[in-house]
Amino acid sequence: MSDKFDVIVVGAGPAGYVAAIRCAQLGFNTACVDKWVDADGKPSLGGTCLNVGCIPSKALLDSSEKVAQASHDFEHHGISVGKVSVDVPKMIARKDDIVKNLTSGIAGLFKANKITSLHGHGKLLADKQVEVSLNGESKIYTADNIILAVGSEPIDIPVAAVDNQLILDNAGALDINAIPKKLGVIGAGVIGLELGSVWNRLGSEVTILEAMDTFLAPVDKQLSREALRAFTKVQGMDIKLGAMVTATNVNKNSVKVTYTLKGEEHTETFDKLIVAVGRKANTKDIAADEAGLKLDERGRVDVNDRCETNIAGVYAIGDAVKGPMLAHKGSEEGVFVAEVLAGQKPHMNHDNIPWVIYTHPEIAWVGINEEQAKERGLNYKTGFFPFAANGRSLAMNEKGGRVKMIADTDTDRVLGVHIFGPNASELISEAVLAMEYSASTEDIARTIHAHPTLSEVMHEAALSVDGRSLHKVN
Ligand code: FAD
Ligand code: NAD
Repeated sequence: MSDKFDVIVVGAGPAGYVAAIRCAQLGFNTACVDKWVDADGKPSLGGTCLNVGCIPSKALLDSSEKVAQASHDFEHHGISVGKVSVDVPKMIARKDDIVKNLTSGIAGLFKANKITSLHGHGKLLADKQVEVSLNGESKIYTADNIILAVGSEPIDIPVAAVDNQLILDNAGALDINAIPKKLGVIGAGVIGLELGSVWNRLGSEVTILEAMDTFLAPVDKQLSREALRAFTKVQGMDIKLGAMVTATNVNKNSVKVTYTLKGEEHTETFDKLIVAVGRKANTKDIAADEAGLKLDERGRVDVNDRCETNIAGVYAIGDAVKGPMLAHKGSEEGVFVAEVLAGQKPHMNHDNIPWVIYTHPEIAWVGINEEQAKERGLNYKTGFFPFAANGRSLAMNEKGGRVKMIADTDTDRVLGVHIFGPNASELISEAVLAMEYSASTEDIARTIHAHPTLSEVMHEAALSVDGRSLHKVN
């Protein structure tokens, strides 16, 4: 094998593997270095997302949602199934099969695109060289261009050291093989809510300890309030805001957690404790000093808006750089850089990246929320429509949530769309497309939406911005 490539990508998560595929499509002789190994010690492509992130969490969210439906919703449809029992190891094995299927799929895509897959730790050296090390042996490769896509890892907090037996990070939390009677979670962010939901649906008593006084700060306040009510009052999760964990004591089969809330100290004992307090760029040991790679104040690779680092010919993308830590953001940056290298003039709109939280109902948003519109002093108008007034939603026994739209008063241009409701993850795409084309709410209102569909809630929310919803009083 030659040790010279047109492009070397370091990291095969959704940012890196997509960058490698697009580079290969554009005719570059491409290599991709990745060090991930699965539980059997075998290389596994796909990074955090495929191995211990997006995909396995959604597999468990789907399984657990089916349990919740069979336990609580079927009876509304006149279906009796008796007491629902859950085979957790089988559920976990199904999740593992999906992961294996997809990670080996990436290996297949690499082969089909003639991408050289290099297993080991990649380190940027001077003069656009990459050292790949494995088990004490290393080899140096060179490339015209290098793309760093090294991703992120969980932030750990000293008061709750992860052992992945009783105190778990996201990887451990996706492999719990029996339903904990009492589950504690530190952090009511995206992972805390998604994985808290999984085990809550399966029957755990879930307590989430969140340091901030606000719930889901980036989400539009009206929707986050409604979501908090649904997760606590309806679904029974105990979400404590303003709770600061001060100590954990690990016993044989349980963890005692001490926390302060409103100035008082409390303790609670859990069978498992998940720590989900955010993620940090995985930039440790990715570059030799002589390479001179600049990191930013948060330890991320410092890049400009074209994903260029301070070194000519070296780019960085995905969770390892500024911006939201989302798979689709990293993938799009991967495509962007590959096309820049090919001399094309690609475009990536960092202001139009959708977020989804896969709770039930789901939360999804794109663009700014009403609080941000206020802070920016914008002249804006809003519209909303509840799922409870939508026929398809009622047919599905989904009665909660709403779509809220924010638009510029003068131009009617859509500035943000926020959804708390069934299939929000799919519905948000219409908003992203609308905003990409600088659509107005009038454009959405004039677009014919099929009946009966959940998408009619988007249509009605757009009509509501102009005070002319058809199926609610304006
Ligand atoms: P990563 O996926 O972290 O991949 C980086 C890869 O680089 C890894 O394989 C790593 O082993 C490798 N690597 C690192 N350093 C080196 C090195 N020096 N040499 C060789 N290889 C190296 N995002 C969504 O958009 N939707 C979701 O539903 C979603 N769910 C999530 C659920 C969980 C539980 C978690 C933890 C994350 C979730 N995310 C989700 C976030 C998503 O996983 C990340 O945004 C995404 O994986 C980032 O992609 P990446 O390629 O930048 O990095
Ligand atoms: P997060 O930033 O979403 O949430 C972390 C939460 O922990 C915050 O609410 C924060 O206030 C709280 N917190 C921080 N320190 C704390 C402490 N000491 N005690 C109590 N609470 C504390 O982070 P996450 O949930 O770990 O997820 C990491 C990232 O992974 C997400 O931000 C997102 O980028 C990505 N992710 C995305 C999805 C998705 O797209 N559906 C799913 C999971 C993860």
